[in-house]
Amino acid sequence: MDISKRHFLTSCGTLLAGISIYTVAKELAQTEAELGVDQTQTIKYAMVHDENLCIGCNACEQACREVNDVPVGVSRVVIKRTGPFGEYPDQSYRFSRLSCQHCENAPCVTVCPTGAAYIDSETGIVGVNADMCVGCQYCIAACPYQVRFINPVTKAADKCDFCKETRLKQGKQPACVEACPTHALVFGNIRDPDSELVKTLKTKPTYRAKMDLGTRPKLFHVSTINREIVL
Ligand code: SF4
Ligand code: SF4
Ligand code: SF4
Repeated sequence: MDISKRHFLTSCGTLLAGISIYTVAKELAQTEAELGVDQTQTIKYAMVHDENLCIGCNACEQACREVNDVPVGVSRVVIKRTGPFGEYPDQSYRFSRLSCQHCENAPCVTVCPTGAAYIDSETGIVGVNADMCVGCQYCIAACPYQVRFINPVTKAADKCDFCKETRLKQGKQPACVEACPTHALVFGNIRDPDSELVKTLKTKPTYRAKMDLGTRPKLFHVSTINREIVL
């Protein structure tokens, strides 16, 4: 590749990253204004899954299962494989993370008749109070990301909570993040400009799933380079 072409592509990448960061900042600001979110809130947790670094090893799924006591047959996080893309022998796969997006405008919370589904005002984490859950499954039907399930042991709605009780309260990272051997997962406070999460968002173009629904998800994805765009 000649230098001028490489320079052009590099400039395009920088521009895309800039647009992405600007869009994210603008959208989050709009969200807070529109949804009446407390803008003085100092912690708002989010996650990035870098599909270029993910090797589909499923260590994150297993760590989540063990730490959060998730029964066999259900899962809080799934790494979905699609592909192969390209022609043999230059083929590649895409590994995408499916888990709760911790929406700022969460349909699961809106429809819950008992208040069991809630957004934690201190962290922005969308949680489930199992003691208040009556198992009506309204939240499961309302979630556009299809990440909720009824826990066969507790009989309550269940999903990823960023290890709020099992890890964050001890000052630790979520189990999936710690288990990932390639550092494909970055978790942190989107309010903290010095956090690794914000630095990642500032340097890598990201997308969020189903943004057109207005759910304002907080799970960001760095898109795989060698694949079709599948959102
Ligand atoms: S992804 Fe689904 S379960 Fe998670 S906050 Fe959004 S609507 Fe609720
Ligand atoms: S299943 Fe539980 S958390 Fe979901 S809407 Fe019903 S009561 Fe709320
Ligand atoms: S542990 Fe990391 S590399 Fe392995 S599947 Fe999960 S996100 Fe991908």
